Amino acid sequence: MAALGLKLRTAEGGYVAFFCPGCDEGHMMRIGDGPSPRWSFNGNAEKPTFSPSVLVFLPERIDRNGNHHPQKTLCHSFVRDGRIEFLSDSAHGLAGQTVDLPDWPADYGFGGD
Ligand SMILES: [Zn+2]
Repeated sequence: MAALGLKLRTAEGGYVAFFCPGCDEGHMMRIGDGPSPRWSFNGNAEKPTFSPSVLVFLPERIDRNGNHHPQKTLCHSFVRDGRIEFLSDSAHGLAGQTVDLPDWPADYGFGGD
């Protein structure tokens, strides 16, 4: 991962990540060329805007007892002008709130790097 300003990180393959204070982890989006899904990015590392919304979910699954679990939304947000607008279907405590995008924590890697 490489720094892109204080708030964003980039990764190979055209990915950009921001740190989500609702999930206490990074969320990554592909903004470069490549297969879908891709996001648009305004290029502003301090006040980023990504489109469309960012959805983090647990996929639909069948557990080992054969019970069906539908897709579950964990975090759903719009990142606009350096702020995160959490939609009310997010499963964490910031659902329905809009907060400033935090600086990427100095002690937080991403995927072990
Ligand atoms: Zn999140």
